[in-house]
Amino acid sequence: MFTVWQILVGFLLIVLIILFVFRISIVKEVVFLPENYRELLTDYVKFYHQLNEEGRQRFEKRVEHFLSAVKITGVNAIVEDIDRLLIASGAIIPVFAISDWQYINLHEVLVYPGAFNEDFDQAGSDRPIAGMVGGGAMQNVMIITKWQLRQGFINNHDAHNTAIHEFVHLIDKMDGTLDGVPEIILERKYTSQWKNMMDTTIGQMKTDGSDIDMYGATNPTEFFAVISEYFFEQPDLLNANHPGLYEMLERIYKTGG
Ligand SMILES: [Zn+2]
Repeated sequence: MFTVWQILVGFLLIVLIILFVFRISIVKEVVFLPENYRELLTDYVKFYHQLNEEGRQRFEKRVEHFLSAVKITGVNAIVEDIDRLLIASGAIIPVFAISDWQYINLHEVLVYPGAFNEDFDQAGSDRPIAGMVGGGAMQNVMIITKWQLRQGFINNHDAHNTAIHEFVHLIDKMDGTLDGVPEIILERKYTSQWKNMMDTTIGQMKTDGSDIDMYGATNPTEFFAVISEYFFEQPDLLNANHPGLYEMLERIYKTGG
């Protein structure tokens, strides 16, 4: 005969097994990618489209992980599947070659419909405010406008991508300073060379003009974000026009192979 004790233990075991199985099924049901994510990425994200099958699978995993870690909230804007995928793509493209990268300094992305100029802290705002990375009370928050987000991916013939621009600011900021030098990924022996290169190019831009967006001449922080957009949007053109900058960016983003 079973004792009361044995029956209780048996009952507890059954409950635990049920809980375990149930939890597993809940975890599996949380899906961060829309059903047609492969189609959407192929159609709208050139970077993804150009990867081989193995690369695409890695990209998808990184996108899914990003979407599971960062909240995306519409502010007077409806956030659609494509917007979530584009934000995650903008996050992953710059750090795709750095497999252990985590945006530990980002908890939420706020999506605004168009240009915004409300009375929040505008430190770090960009190009009549297409996006910004927060400071002060907005720490760990990024703001991006839906229109600029989509334009950045739809138009493949320029060197602009607002999402990439804002995520590059976050990468730059990870070492504690927003200064155009991403010390967390750039080896120390190259930092002074990179600073000089940025200063020299900004000087040239101001005197001679440039094919680089003049917004980059604002300061080294903006230069780094702008030249990174160019690097990921038009790599061949950047390599042809500015081989030195191209080489340094390959070093920063570990894309040299
Ligand atoms: Zn910027």
